[in-house]
Amino acid sequence: MDYQSTRSTIKTDSVNAVLQGIAPDGGLFADPSIESICFDWKKCLKLKTQDMAVMILKALLPDFENMEDLVKKAYTGKFETEDLTPLVKCGDLHILELFRGPTSAFKDVALSMLPQLVTAALSQTGAEKEVTILTATSGDTGKAALEGFKNVPGTRIIVFYPDNGVSEMQHLQMATQEGDNVCVCAVKGNFDDCQSGVKNAFSTLKDKLEGSRFTLSSANSINIGRLAPQVVYYFAAYRDLIKDGTIKEGEPVDFCVPTGNFGDILAGYYAKLMGLPVSKLICASNANNVLTDFLTTGVYNKVRPFYRTESPSMDILVSSNLERLLFLACGKDTEKVAGWMKDLNTVGKFKVDEKTFSYITSSFEAAWCSQEETEKAILDCWNKNGYLCDTHTAVAYHVADRRKSSTPTVVLSTASPYKFPQAVLKALGQSEEGNCFDLLRRLNGYTGVPVPQNLKNLEGKKVRFNKSIEKNEINDFVLSTLK
Ligand SMILES: *Cc1c(COP(=O)(O)O)cnc(C)c1O
Repeated sequence: MDYQSTRSTIKTDSVNAVLQGIAPDGGLFADPSIESICFDWKKCLKLKTQDMAVMILKALLPDFENMEDLVKKAYTGKFETEDLTPLVKCGDLHILELFRGPTSAFKDVALSMLPQLVTAALSQTGAEKEVTILTATSGDTGKAALEGFKNVPGTRIIVFYPDNGVSEMQHLQMATQEGDNVCVCAVKGNFDDCQSGVKNAFSTLKDKLEGSRFTLSSANSINIGRLAPQVVYYFAAYRDLIKDGTIKEGEPVDFCVPTGNFGDILAGYYAKLMGLPVSKLICASNANNVLTDFLTTGVYNKVRPFYRTESPSMDILVSSNLERLLFLACGKDTEKVAGWMKDLNTVGKFKVDEKTFSYITSSFEAAWCSQEETEKAILDCWNKNGYLCDTHTAVAYHVADRRKSSTPTVVLSTASPYKFPQAVLKALGQSEEGNCFDLLRRLNGYTGVPVPQNLKNLEGKKVRFNKSIEKNEINDFVLSTLK
């Protein structure tokens, strides 16, 4: 199986796709044959989560040797539960808890695996290179990537986050990061500025670094090695719904996903293409509802106000992974995709044709949730179900709850409520006074929900990184860090 750029006929294998992160023409590496993939999904549903991961990753990234070892190293002992991603009942809905990993964010599922894939790819290709991982983060990717790559031989990682665009807890998580090969820097701008700055750094620095011992890659979900591990928990959730008697094998399930860069939900679509009986994937957005508009009209328009919300990891106007869906939806017409992406860059919008649009809407639905509705959802969910959700999960909970579908619906829960204690306390009508550790204790006192150890441990840790740069200084910053 080959990977191909979404914007041209450039091809490579899965090992090199992971190493490169993004295609040289700015496109994303995608598997053009995934719609006809041969995958024994029924057999997969009989497995434990780690064995599922081995089977799924072997299918999606077939050129890696020893996937068993890589999965074991990635996950064993790193998550709160052996199951990695537990499914819990919440009223009529089911919540898939993806935040039980080392940094209490769903990004841990993929970013525990990615460093294993990158180092394996380095050794398999015999590249005597040091990989530098460049990452733009809206808050959670940064910490999860730093933790994943910390002290991994042959790698270095540089993380850029929007100044004032992340929660205090997210900021502390990154600023106190330990490890000899890590670096964190704030950018005066929003997440889209960070992401386009990093994409730009890839294209301009690749040539400059040609022939040196450095090579660049990405820990963002533009990297297929980030996306593939996310397919696993859709299978795990479906397996658990069979186990608890909610469905019988073969019956349809809907998944409602709090969406930013479109990576998480796209992994659900890959699961569907691999045979999992997924009916609808519901894309839930916050006030930055560019995807709701796209998925209901076929017009993607990023020229609109940008809102800073209490769900900062979804404050995104350019959702990179949509490009991989467009690639499949238009019949892999790379010229078409390249054209749309060019329109997006130049005039800020594009419109897809009827056929592409109906391909998309046959599997995807969308709705959004305002700031007030998000707060109300946290309160309602707590009062009605005794379940405490974070601000991102609350967006999806609201959308799923209002939809009232008769199909069993799984809401993906993407962060611990303790990563956003201020917003959660406010929603519950409690005082927001004090530093973020006071808030953790207050939220814990009020709800009795245990605080994740990794967040408690931040108290008193030394701040190692406090640099902030202009958005046009990203390239220089990377070069000076490499020297
Ligand atoms: C990253 C993130 C999201 C959005 O996921 P995408 O794959 O970017 O769509 C949602 N919630 C949280 C908490 C996140 O960290």
